[in-house]
Amino acid sequence: MTDFTMQKDADGVAIITWDTVGKSMNVMSRDSMALLSDLVDDALADDAIKGIIITSGKDTFAGGMDLNVLASIRDESGDNPAQGLFDFTMAGHHMLRKVERAGMDPKTNKGGKPIAAALPGTALGIGLEVPLACHRIFAADNPKAKIGLPEIMVGIFPGGGGTTRLVRKLGAMAASPLLLEGKLNDPKKAMAAGVIDEVVPADELIAKAKEWVLSEPKIVKPWDEKGYKMPGGAPYHPAGFMTFVGASAMVNGKTQGVYPAAKALLSAVYEGALVPFDQALKIEARWFTNVLMNPSSSAMIRSLFINKEALEKGANRPEAPDQKVKKVGVIGAGMMGAGISLVSALAGIQVVLIDSTQEAADKGKSYTTAHLDKGIARKKVTEEKKEAVLGLINATTDYAALEGCDLIVEAVFEDVGVKAEVTAKVQAVTGPDCIFATNTSTLPITELAKASNDPEKFIGIHFFSPVDKMLLVEIIKGKETGPVAVAKALDYVRQIKKTPIVVNDERFFYANRCIIPYINEGIRMVKEGVEPALIENAAKLVGMPLGPLQLVDETSVDLGVKIAKATKAAMGDAYPDGEVDEVLFWMFDQERLGRKSNAGFYAYDEKGKREGLWEGLAAQYPTAEDQPDLTTVQHRLLFAQTLEAVRALEEGVLEDIREGDVGAILGWGFAPWSGGPFSWLDIIGAPYAAERCDQLTAEFGERFKTPDLLREMADKGQEFYKRFGQQAKAA
Ligand code: NAD
Repeated sequence: MTDFTMQKDADGVAIITWDTVGKSMNVMSRDSMALLSDLVDDALADDAIKGIIITSGKDTFAGGMDLNVLASIRDESGDNPAQGLFDFTMAGHHMLRKVERAGMDPKTNKGGKPIAAALPGTALGIGLEVPLACHRIFAADNPKAKIGLPEIMVGIFPGGGGTTRLVRKLGAMAASPLLLEGKLNDPKKAMAAGVIDEVVPADELIAKAKEWVLSEPKIVKPWDEKGYKMPGGAPYHPAGFMTFVGASAMVNGKTQGVYPAAKALLSAVYEGALVPFDQALKIEARWFTNVLMNPSSSAMIRSLFINKEALEKGANRPEAPDQKVKKVGVIGAGMMGAGISLVSALAGIQVVLIDSTQEAADKGKSYTTAHLDKGIARKKVTEEKKEAVLGLINATTDYAALEGCDLIVEAVFEDVGVKAEVTAKVQAVTGPDCIFATNTSTLPITELAKASNDPEKFIGIHFFSPVDKMLLVEIIKGKETGPVAVAKALDYVRQIKKTPIVVNDERFFYANRCIIPYINEGIRMVKEGVEPALIENAAKLVGMPLGPLQLVDETSVDLGVKIAKATKAAMGDAYPDGEVDEVLFWMFDQERLGRKSNAGFYAYDEKGKREGLWEGLAAQYPTAEDQPDLTTVQHRLLFAQTLEAVRALEEGVLEDIREGDVGAILGWGFAPWSGGPFSWLDIIGAPYAAERCDQLTAEFGERFKTPDLLREMADKGQEFYKRFGQQAKAA
């Protein structure tokens, strides 16, 4: 069995079929690339062959490059990894250029054999770059298929000729959302955008491609003909000039300058547009290598692709039989319960949604109705699908309906007594194998498990709000939680297509533990007289999606007050955040509760649109004459989160740094360019991090104290991924 096979038929058409062994979706590896090249050589050299079709043996075309390959090439290239990556990229270009030229005479463009790509479904990354090198792209009329170049999402850009070809095909302006935002389209939209050429009924895909291949079509690409002009104009053309000025501003606006891939992409497009096609490919390869050599890109690939996928596939799942959920009971139909019901029913799981009144239960279910109605309006959901999904949710007050549930997710009020009462009521109905999960965000799991008749089957499954949008789910093991409960939670998270991390039970678990110090540091700076705009912009310029003050407004000042009071009660004199509370409680007293009251650290218009930072803040907390420099503010904000992550590792709350990094990016948007807090420490180096913490401690206080682990690693010159990564674990 090999990844590509070729069949030559009696009409003289060679059909090359991509079918990656042992994978549900095709991915390109080094070996498969060489194999495809050999098959194309064979077909081009065979006089009996008139044309070629490249298709897939699966119901999708391809998911992209195996990104592990890029990491391994860098590692294998010895002293000169850049050369290794560049040579690999150029080898890809040569192969695809061979497909594109297909044996044509270089001078006259005569001869050559037509090559069609026939895509049965999704075609992403190199899975679209191969078709873009072909002469015509056919796609099956499959609305679920996604077609596009999403590389930018993991910190690289299309380096298999996709950048150069798409810009030459569509023009820089039309190609920009596809390249810079990684926008994916269904086949019809991809055709309307000019990315593919024809959408045909699925059962006629190969026949239509074959008909075209045998029709003696013109195959020379526009950019290989004399007088080619780039659509929308090249950069030196007035219209093209405007495009690039605009694109450059847009990229910097969107990325705040912290994502190397977006800038490199723009450079590859701009410089490539000034030179002939083959040179443009070389420029693309140079910039691609430049990006791959940037530590940010490798950290992003590692966290957002390799490790995210490993966690989703159950990297930390204990040995246990399949725990797929068939019937889930969701208790509490408020904001969280409604979202949990929605994502469960969408995954085909039967849901019993319970609240104390029928009205509240129905209201929870109506969240799913509204979600599906929106889908119908956007033509993404059919009426039948809506009926089927709603049919899975039984909204009721009757606990007896929970009989037969194999998982319970409790999302009632954040109150130990209420939760204990619910636990007992549920367990009176459910069987001994049912796993009970709580969605608490602040209460210790071990404590809540005391209300359970079987703490081994009691666990935390912590969703983030809004449940349907947030990708991370934090699974929390109480002291007595057993492996089957962990496996159940992981299998459930996999069913609802989210990314899990598994952590141990300490105050605020992992995500909230790290995000609270970030918010607090922002508020503390307000108290010190740092310009609020400096705080917010410093956060964004270092890649945080929201500044700390905006984040308070979004999550609400009263929630902050509630958490502060509870934490203070639990910690007593050791409570370190009195200064923060002064500002927070004052905001509360002013009834500036954040977005929900249309008034917070920011001002809002009456429709709820955020305007600017609230000027009244300065009257209470005047800004100081001397303002700190940008880097100091950024370091305070980043170290506040990162040191908490290190402490969570030290204390064993985190058992795997991959979870620390992936959880940070997906859970609260920790500067994704960095790959997460541990990756960031590896980028800046433990010695520098420890030195910087010493300075911050001297200037701002003990909360920046270098954790022992970091100090030790600084002294030994260690890196987190070398010491705690998978290779270290395997050794
Ligand atoms: P919510 O107030 O919107 O909903 C709670 C629901 O529980 C209400 O509909 C209430 O009627 C119902 N309820 C209360 N007591 C009940 C009982 N005895 N039996 C049945 N139903 C009962 O609250 P929420 O924001 O959905 O939060 C629920 C849980 O999720 C809390 O533990 C909270 O800490 C946690 N959580 C919240 C968020 C968030 O952002 N809101 C995020 C993560 C976790």
